[in-house]
Amino acid sequence: MDMEKRIKALRQALREHNYNYYVLDSPTISDFEFDMKLKELQELEAQHPEFYDANSPTIRVGGGVTKNFETVVHEHRMYSLDNSYSKDDLEDWEKRIQRNLGPVPVAYTCELKYDGASISITYEKGKLLRAVTRGDGVQGDDVTTNVKTIKSVPLQLKGNFPDRFDIRGEIVLPFDGFVKMNQERAANGEEPYMNPRNTASGSLKLQDSAIVAKRPLECLLYSIVGKDTGIGTQYEMLEKAREWGFKVPTVAKLCHSTEEVMAFVEHWDTARHELPYETDGVVVKVNNLQQQEELGFTSKAPRWAMAYKFKAEQVSTILQKISYQVGRTGAITPVANLAPVLLAGTTVKRASLHNADQIAKLDIREGDTVFVEKGGEIIPKIVGVDMAKRPPHSRPTVYIDHCPECGAPLERTEGDAKHYCPNEYGCPPQITGRIQHFISRRAMDIEGLGGETVVLLFKEGLIQDYADLYDLTKEQVLPLERMADKSAENLINGIAASVAVPFERVLFALGIRFVGETVAKKLAKAYKNIDALANATVEELEAVDEIGERIAHSVIAFFGNEKNRLAIRRLKEKGLQFSLSEDDLAQQTDLLKGQTVVVSGVFETLGRDELKKCIEDNGGKVGSSISAKTTYLVAGDKMGPSKRTKAEKLGVPIISEHDFLKLVGR
Ligand code: AMP
Ligand code: ZN
Repeated sequence: MDMEKRIKALRQALREHNYNYYVLDSPTISDFEFDMKLKELQELEAQHPEFYDANSPTIRVGGGVTKNFETVVHEHRMYSLDNSYSKDDLEDWEKRIQRNLGPVPVAYTCELKYDGASISITYEKGKLLRAVTRGDGVQGDDVTTNVKTIKSVPLQLKGNFPDRFDIRGEIVLPFDGFVKMNQERAANGEEPYMNPRNTASGSLKLQDSAIVAKRPLECLLYSIVGKDTGIGTQYEMLEKAREWGFKVPTVAKLCHSTEEVMAFVEHWDTARHELPYETDGVVVKVNNLQQQEELGFTSKAPRWAMAYKFKAEQVSTILQKISYQVGRTGAITPVANLAPVLLAGTTVKRASLHNADQIAKLDIREGDTVFVEKGGEIIPKIVGVDMAKRPPHSRPTVYIDHCPECGAPLERTEGDAKHYCPNEYGCPPQITGRIQHFISRRAMDIEGLGGETVVLLFKEGLIQDYADLYDLTKEQVLPLERMADKSAENLINGIAASVAVPFERVLFALGIRFVGETVAKKLAKAYKNIDALANATVEELEAVDEIGERIAHSVIAFFGNEKNRLAIRRLKEKGLQFSLSEDDLAQQTDLLKGQTVVVSGVFETLGRDELKKCIEDNGGKVGSSISAKTTYLVAGDKMGPSKRTKAEKLGVPIISEHDFLKLVGR
């Protein structure tokens, strides 16, 4: 078949499947089939750069890096919304509208107010041209590269659309995706993100779009602006946007009276708790666009729209006890144990107290009646104390100064809000937490062994650290609670099988603070075996791509500890992988050591990612932009002219793909 046709057909098919999956939530093929098609397209595109398309579905996996987000002036200003907090406010507003417009019927579209990051996306001839943040409303940041990775944002429209228009919406992070991201962060020993909204807007400003592509962001749209769009009402606008392939929430309702608007508000004030993402109110808009035009704008907001803000649901209950949890890294988290109370549809028994400062600031004490709120965060929080109800002999909370689990004196470093238990190797939750991390799916992935069994094994005195796992025998584990013959066997076999897990995952499993999966990969690649890594200096570590001072010091401290060195020695004896495999090594050289290579454009022989991997495999560093430090610029087809000019100005040699491949002997 004609290659161009084949590529175009694949793109069209992938676009349609993408739409079915992410906009309609009803896929018609399996994820596997989808991946296969995507892979085929990626390969064909790599072989045929002449058919490059900036809006191909392959763009969604990301890879583009933005160093500085360019400022763009909005063609149509992005206004704010006026807020109302009571039904009286809302009724007053509707009366003002009616006075302004005279005795004509006025209908309203009610929508939910999504809490995320606002975005304006320009489409030209059906193709996504540019995506810009709201900024100050007059100008924002160009975040096109990142927005293109959001799967529910169409890169190419369907149906009968205007030639050019802007569409506005909100980029949100659904709760379940947010929870998953935080679980991963916790597994890497990192602080969790505060709430979905900040995480969504933070994501738009990440430099590496491949990371954005991995985040489960969604884009919900609600407004079209442009000349001659042929649209007459707000409600029609939503329908049209949906037709063109945008994800437009279906909860919007056309209301013909104030009563209907109120009913919508009341319904969603409780029903919103069932939604997959955060909403903080309702937006009521005059439906007729001509009436909207008549009403116009104030200096900051349209007169034809009004946000009704939900009150964050709040209840009061008794704080029975403050307890303290110790995490895998030794971080102490104070927890409020509450008299059970119903809040936003669920029974709440516990709330986060964050840290000592927070408790002191609000003067929270055991026995107090406290106000509990559920906001953008998933875990409810205490926002204040009902002082009138404070028991007569109550005393201020004295924050613990010893670990509740092991009794060690707690430490707190300057500028850190949290207290830590320093007894890394003697504190039970830190010991079991480390072993649980070691066996987890992304680390050693030990089948037949779960987190609870780890705690049991520890309590029975059978394991003290992860190296002990490899000494366990079936006879030892059989007497454990709920352990049958078969499960004991599976456990032992699972442990034995894990000796084949590759080096980079072993390195991640060791639980070196701040060494998550990606960092473990980088270190494995740079040092090739554990001894070389263990002997590295801070300066050498920092020379590795993406390794900063914080990680470098953590690595040094880890290997400086006799206990860790002993555990590694024992694991080595058991046959775990502490160096890259022959296969991996065969592709590695030092040919590009100390060199920074920038790639730009479209390539013939290798895909972009392969090319980058090739640079790293040969000891080089992939640069994201050209500077005086750049050793070479590998220029492909369709390279940006500004890159070329910059390279020429700085005297950076520009080489072709073939030159580069020769350089690394391929
Ligand atoms: P505020 O930030 O409080 O001034 O509210 C205005 C913002 O609400 C807009 O910039 C939008 O990002 C956001 N918003 C969320 N949902 C909607 C909606 N359905 N209609 C209009 N704006 C919305
Ligand atoms: Zn402790």
